[in-house]
Amino acid sequence: PIKLQTWEYLHSAVKMGSLLGEGAYGEVRQGVLRRKGRNVDVAVKLTKGAGDLSKVKIREMMKEARLMRNFKHKNIVRIFGVAVDEQPLYILLELVKGGALNTYLQKNGPNVLLKERLAMCQGAAHGLEYLHAATCIHRDIAARNCLYSNDKIIKISDFGLSRLGNTYKLVTPQKLPIKWLAPETITTLVFSLKTDTYSYGVMCYEVFSDGCEPWDHCTNTDAKKNVVSGKHLTIPDICPDRFKNFIYEKIYVKDPNKRVSMADVSRFIDALMLEYADETQD
Ligand code: ATP
Repeated sequence: PIKLQTWEYLHSAVKMGSLLGEGAYGEVRQGVLRRKGRNVDVAVKLTKGAGDLSKVKIREMMKEARLMRNFKHKNIVRIFGVAVDEQPLYILLELVKGGALNTYLQKNGPNVLLKERLAMCQGAAHGLEYLHAATCIHRDIAARNCLYSNDKIIKISDFGLSRLGNTYKLVTPQKLPIKWLAPETITTLVFSLKTDTYSYGVMCYEVFSDGCEPWDHCTNTDAKKNVVSGKHLTIPDICPDRFKNFIYEKIYVKDPNKRVSMADVSRFIDALMLEYADETQD
C-alpha cells in the first residue's frame, strides 16, 4: 500500500458533488472528504486535461497547495490536503458556501449594512495581517479572490500569485490585475507586503461601492496613469469619514515606506468597530 503523508488522501476518500465554479486550472466541485474518521464538506479543485501544458499547470497548482498548507486562520481559506494517487489531481479546500465576495456585493448591493461592510474590511485585514506575519505576499488581493461564508466570514483565497519573502520583482511578463496595483508596482514591477496593503485599499473601495470595479469607466492604461500621477479612487460616502480618510492618507500613499502595514490597518479597524458599536447601540 502507498504510504500517505498527513495531508495526502486517496481519491477514494473523496465523494464528489455538484459544480461550484470554474477556475484557471479546471473545475471546482463540492465534495465530502473522509478525514480522521469524520466526513468533512470540502471544495475540490480538479486539474484538467493532460499533456505538456498541464504539467506546468500541475506544478503551479501543487506549489499553491504547498504554500497554503502553512496557513491556519479564520480569514484564510484552509487547505486539508491533496489527492494525487490518480489523475485528475484534487486540491481539497475548506468549503465556503457563500461564494466570491464581489458577487455577493453585486447581488446584495444597497442592502448590505455599514456594519457588515466594516466587518468585511476587518476580516480581510486580519487575514492579510496573518499572511504578512508569515512574510507571504499575496499579490492578488481583490474582492473576487475572497470568499464570503454564509455566516459572514471573509476568507482570503486564490494564492496562485503568492510568494514568500519581503519583496518580489517580476521578471517574466505576466497578466496582472492592473486596477488593483500599487503605483510602485506599475512603475517598477516590484511587489511587497506594502503593495498588498495598497490592493487591500482598492478592495475596500469595492466593499463600499457594492462590488463595482475600480476605475470602472477607465481603460487599464488610464487607470495606470491616474495612480502613477498620484490620483486615487473616491470611496462612496457610506464609508465613515474616519475610515475614508485613513484609506486616503495612510493606504493610498505613493511612497510604500510611508504606507501603513496590515497590522496598523487591523488595529485601526478594530478600534473603529469598537467605537462604532458604542455609537450605534439601538
Ligand atoms: P481564477 O484564477 O480564474 O480566479 P482559480 O483557478 O483561482 O480561478 P477560484 O477562483 O479559486 O479558481 O475558483 C473558481 C470558483 O470556484 C470561485 O469563483 C468559487 O465560486 C468557487 N470556489 C473556489 N474555491 C472555493 C471554496 N473553497 N469554497 C466554495 N467555492 C469555491
